[in-house]
Amino acid sequence: MNKRILEALGFEEEVQNVELGLCPFCNQPIRVDEFKDELSIKEYKISGLCQRCQDGFFGEGGILGIPPESSTGFHYHHLPVP
Ligand SMILES: [Zn+2]
Repeated sequence: MNKRILEALGFEEEVQNVELGLCPFCNQPIRVDEFKDELSIKEYKISGLCQRCQDGFFGEGGILGIPPESSTGFHYHHLPVP
């Protein structure tokens, strides 16, 4: 991940989170043992997203099917406003 580019784009907070081992989306600590498979780990290395957020984005009932927020502690405050 190119930090300079991310910072230039105004993602300082997200970069910080990733460096702290926090998911940039839900701000929860990343738990490596949470990842289901290599694909998830790969995705984490690209986006820094935790398994739960990956599920939210890419999984069934994903972002575009809006997962139930209560059960996962999924927060939407970091969702980019279109
Ligand atoms: Zn997350």
